[in-house]
Amino acid sequence: MKFGFKKTVTLAALLLTGATLLAACGGSSASDGSSGEKGYVGIAMPTKSAERWIADGNNMVEELEKLDYKTDLQYGEDKVENQVAQIENMITKGVDTLVIASIDGSALTDVLEKAHNEGIKVIAYDRLLMNSEYVDYYATFDNFGVGVLQASYIEEKLGLNDGEGPFNIELFGGSPDDNNALINYNGVMSIFQPYFDSGQLVAPSKQTSFNQIATLRWDGSTAQARMDNLLSANYTDKTLDAVLSPYDPISLGIISSLKGVGYGPSDKPLPVITGQDATVAGVKSIIAGEQTQTIFKDTRILAKNTIEMIEAINNDEEVPVNDTETYDNGVKVVPTYLANPISVDKDNYKVELIDTDYYTEADLK
Ligand code: BGC
Repeated sequence: MKFGFKKTVTLAALLLTGATLLAACGGSSASDGSSGEKGYVGIAMPTKSAERWIADGNNMVEELEKLDYKTDLQYGEDKVENQVAQIENMITKGVDTLVIASIDGSALTDVLEKAHNEGIKVIAYDRLLMNSEYVDYYATFDNFGVGVLQASYIEEKLGLNDGEGPFNIELFGGSPDDNNALINYNGVMSIFQPYFDSGQLVAPSKQTSFNQIATLRWDGSTAQARMDNLLSANYTDKTLDAVLSPYDPISLGIISSLKGVGYGPSDKPLPVITGQDATVAGVKSIIAGEQTQTIFKDTRILAKNTIEMIEAINNDEEVPVNDTETYDNGVKVVPTYLANPISVDKDNYKVELIDTDYYTEADLK
């Protein structure tokens, strides 16, 4: 495997010792003293404003460096042009593999072609890279399964399966440029559609299509503003029983909005409200009895799976995948390694999050 720092070596850098040279060229390169001999991995993450991407990036760097890879970890801060420039820069630096969690999954087609022309393998990380044939593999969680778990949680809490209802519900979705958001929605509707059809679930806003409920960049304040509008337009004489929220910061925005109009006390309890990512704030809210549920996606497992793929590519071995049918990016079906999401609420957060050392008890105080 080629070792790729050659293209940016400056004269001054040439005078540096080997270890310093790695640090000078590699962003977050082999800081633990590993040689980076196995290869050079560029890791492009969407934003540092979400906990999970920070954990994802840190896990990847830590584990790759243990295995003697050099790394370059960059965050695009949710600006597509930043991410494009960061990936171009990684290509110039001579990475061997790109691991990309995109901001807009369809916005990277040109830069992926450049990567391909340089012989760089591309792994889409968590979010599928769309409309490009130059995506070699995809490592993610079962995104349809996330939606199924969220909707099934509401189904059970409301007793929909036992024929209870009608209940008022509002739906929120993720970012329209993130393929995960659409798949998540499809998972949700696979459970909810029959209940909307039977009238056991009613959305007084009538907003149930993906485009109507999507939240650009998964932004909590955007969701809060939409909830404010939904409440004032539809709920002056109605009570909201459940909210399908796709992501903890969105859930927290929705909860603020609901508290603003008097939900919370025992005579007007908050609706059942789902989430995703088991963020510290989300889990604290669950412990406090406000948000009801979240989805735990163990970023350590996703990093491990991705690294198994990188190692297999590196060793010319068969790359581990467990889904070769579902993830069509518009041009090809991308071979995928899926991990399992886990539903977490007040009853099991200790077992899932603390006993597994994902968080300490102190983190959640
Ligand atoms: C990820 C979720 C995350 C969301 C917002 C999605 O692509 O799959 O885990 O909550 O982006 O960052």
